[in-house]
Amino acid sequence: MTEFTWVLDPTSGKVVLEGLTVEEALALAGDLLPAGREINCGRPLVATPLPAATDTPGPTLRVARIYHASVVDGPGCRSVLQLQGCPIRCPGCYVPETHDPDGGVALSVDDVVTALLHPSGTPRDGVTVLGGEPLFQPQGLAALLRELKAAGIHTVVYSGYTLEALARRREPEVHEVLRLTDLLVDGPFVRSRATGAGEWRGSRNQRLIPNPAMALAADEGYARSGQP
Ligand code: SF4
Repeated sequence: MTEFTWVLDPTSGKVVLEGLTVEEALALAGDLLPAGREINCGRPLVATPLPAATDTPGPTLRVARIYHASVVDGPGCRSVLQLQGCPIRCPGCYVPETHDPDGGVALSVDDVVTALLHPSGTPRDGVTVLGGEPLFQPQGLAALLRELKAAGIHTVVYSGYTLEALARRREPEVHEVLRLTDLLVDGPFVRSRATGAGEWRGSRNQRLIPNPAMALAADEGYARSGQP
């Protein structure tokens, strides 16, 4: 039996069906609901216009899109930052336009925080960072998460790398990102395992890992490795 999830957003009135193809969803709900649109975790319904590129000193991020009120990119209703640049190149990736490391717009972290958290009236249970590959820009990402956590924001980070692969990286900012992430969705997109992936995931191999730094610290091998 096919397993799927209805997501009803009381704020916007949107109905999202996860786990079905468009044809299956229309067969199920087509007589009851207006015409629908296919979406996925990396494709917003409406993106927010980005600020102008920055040349100010300080940490920057190369940004593909920012959008708000997503109910498919983590728990609750979320503001979403989609970063530019991904070297992983999973076959069947839904967002190939985010792969080019020179695409998108380079913005200061302060401008990104402002675009994510304002207008302040936007309903928001947290901020999600996805890609592209967010850990392709660890310095800027760590600076962003520092500011979000200082503001008390719940953070979700998607990565095409597994937690174990991230733990082996030497850059201190990668480990800081893991400490500042409340929920990590890890692993590459695997097209042959896309059906029935479950909420917030693109394929069944991907894992939902709350507090990834704590998960690693609880792993004896990681603790022995002396990583921060
Ligand atoms: S990691 Fe994400 S953005 Fe990169 S190729 Fe895979 S699915 Fe696409």
